[in-house]
Amino acid sequence: MVSAIHNNLQRVREKLADAVRKSGRNDEDVRLVAVTKTYPVEDILEAVRCGVVSIGENRVQELSEKRSLWSGPSIEWRFIGHLQGNKVRKVLEFASTVDSLDSLSLARALSRVAEEKKMRLPVLIEVNTSGEESKHGTAPSDAAPLLESVMKECPALQVEGLMTVGPLTDDEAEVRRAFALLRGIRDSLSGAFGLRLKELSMGMSGDYEWAVQEGSTMVRIGSAIFGKRT
Ligand SMILES: *Cc1c(COP(=O)(O)O)cnc(C)c1O
Repeated sequence: MVSAIHNNLQRVREKLADAVRKSGRNDEDVRLVAVTKTYPVEDILEAVRCGVVSIGENRVQELSEKRSLWSGPSIEWRFIGHLQGNKVRKVLEFASTVDSLDSLSLARALSRVAEEKKMRLPVLIEVNTSGEESKHGTAPSDAAPLLESVMKECPALQVEGLMTVGPLTDDEAEVRRAFALLRGIRDSLSGAFGLRLKELSMGMSGDYEWAVQEGSTMVRIGSAIFGKRT
């Protein structure tokens, strides 16, 4: 029997492909990260059977529990949640990227542990593009000084781009303004620091088509694939 996850993924991939085409981009320009927080390991396995290769988790405890249960093929586990300094060691045991870097103290802690492990850790800087208080991420105006300090002080980190969570509204113009802001910040940092910063991680179940039209290279989709969270 074909699973709900299979059907949902198919629908998401079709809409994603439409959005990619509509914006004159190529399929390989936008990666799908399946966000599996709150869903069981069996669901992750089913998604992987359907071709998913990147998983996003937002809590360290949940990530480590799932990793210890995981017996499926080797996939990419990205950490996308707010991270406290005291969990850095654990997160680097189980995730291969941190997409939610939002402070210099966290960057220093990550770099220290990554250096010990003789690894170079790919990270994304999370920017709060909506100004909503509940959102994590650095303020847009703090992104440049944070990046500058990370480049100076955190040799084990490789900043590959930026991440944001769109505002909580159905208003297309408002959501797209936030995504366009992230792209603009990327372009200006890229110019100022001579870095490629190729990744723009933006777009979730409710807004990924808009995000793709604004230049997203990585959409993070949970409920549209796995169903409503309970
Ligand atoms: C939960 C979460 C997502 C996915 O949200 P959905 O609306 O379920 O697609 C994406 N990014 C982050 C940072 C999340 O915490």
